[in-house]
Amino acid sequence: MTERRELTFDDVLRNAGVHEAQSRLDRLMPDPATLPDSGGGCQDGSCGCGGAAPNTLMAKPMDRRGALGALFGAIAVTAQAAGACAPTAVESDEEREAMLLRQEEYFKGNYRLMTPRERSETVRRLERLAQLRGMGDVRIRTDDALPGVMFGYAFNISKCKGFRNCVEACIQENNLDRASGDQYIRIFEKPDGESIDDLEHADATYGHAVPAEGHHYLGTQCFQCANPPCVYVCPVQATWQEPDGVVVVDYDWCIGCRYCMAACPYWARRFNWAEPHVPAEEVNPRQHYLGNRLRKKGVVEKCTFCIQRSREGRLPACAESCPTGARVFGNLLDPESEIRWVLENKQVFRLKEDLGTEPRFWYFMD
Ligand code: SF4
Ligand code: SF4
Repeated sequence: MTERRELTFDDVLRNAGVHEAQSRLDRLMPDPATLPDSGGGCQDGSCGCGGAAPNTLMAKPMDRRGALGALFGAIAVTAQAAGACAPTAVESDEEREAMLLRQEEYFKGNYRLMTPRERSETVRRLERLAQLRGMGDVRIRTDDALPGVMFGYAFNISKCKGFRNCVEACIQENNLDRASGDQYIRIFEKPDGESIDDLEHADATYGHAVPAEGHHYLGTQCFQCANPPCVYVCPVQATWQEPDGVVVVDYDWCIGCRYCMAACPYWARRFNWAEPHVPAEEVNPRQHYLGNRLRKKGVVEKCTFCIQRSREGRLPACAESCPTGARVFGNLLDPESEIRWVLENKQVFRLKEDLGTEPRFWYFMD
C-alpha cells in the first residue's frame, strides 16, 4: 500500500513561493555590518522607512498563517523602505505586483466554492500574472457546462494511419510542457490480427514511416469516464466531473499526491515533475480555468476534451487536426449528432469495460 506523505509546513511555504519571497527580502535587507547598531536594520524609522524592517516583523511571535500574511505584507512595505534604507532598490514595480498577486492567489479557495465575483477576480489575477511573466495577452474563460450537453468521443480504427497530427495539435492547444515531452494522447501501433484491446504489448513510441504494412493504430487519452475512479480517490476534491461529463482538475487545489494517477486504469493523467516550460511565442492565449491554462510544477493534469474549445461549440484540437477523419466528437444527448449516429449504427467497444468505469470514448471500425 502506498504510504501517504504528509505535507510539511516547509512544503506549504515552498508551494506558496514564500521561500522565493524570503530570499528577495534578504536581498532587500540592508547589510547589518553597514548599520550603526547591531539590530540588523533601521529600528526607529529615522531613515524614513517607518521602522518596518522585515527582521523586526518576523521576530514578533505569531501563528503560521499570520506569519505568511506578515511576510507577504512586509514585501510591499520593505520594498518602499528599501529606497530609503538601501543605496539601490532591486525590486521593480512589476516584480512587487507579481509578488502581491501570488499572495492573493495563495489564499483563494477551491474553484467550485468561488462566487462569480471571486472567479472573475481570480481570472484577472492569473491573466495579469501571465502578462507579467511575458506570456502575452492571455484570456481565461470560466464558462460552465451548457445544459443538455454530454460530450462523447468515438475513434475509427479503420481510418487512423498513425500520423499523430492529433498529438501535436493537443500539445500546442493545451500548452503542454515542451521540455518533458509529456502528451495527453498516445497512438498505439499494433500488428494486424492481435486482439484490438490488448495494449500491453503495443508500441506507442514508433519512429518509422506510417502507416506500417500489416499494422493498425489506436489512440487513447482521458476517456471522461462516467464512473471515474480518479475522482473518487482524490483526498482534497481537487478533481471532479462536470455536468457535461468532462473530468477536470483545479490545478491550484491539487496537492500532487498522484492518487488519481494510480487509480486511472487508462494511464490518462500526467504529473509535472518540473516547472512546465512553454515558449512565450507558443503559448495558446485562449484558455479555460479548468482546461489549458498554464500549469505548474507538482500538480497532475489531463485531457479535458479541450474544454476551452468544446464549450464554445468547436471541436477538440485532436478531432479538428485529424487528416483521415478517424475522430468523431459531439453531444451524446443530441440525437442528430454524428457521435450518436456512430453509436447507433456501428459495432462499438470500449477499453477495459469489465472495470465498470463507463468511458465516454468508443472504438469502432468501418
Ligand atoms: Fe479518470 Fe482515467 Fe477515466 Fe480519465 S480515463 S476519467 S483520468 S479514470
Ligand atoms: Fe487529487 Fe491532485 Fe492528488 Fe490527483 S494528484 S488525487 S488531483 S490532489
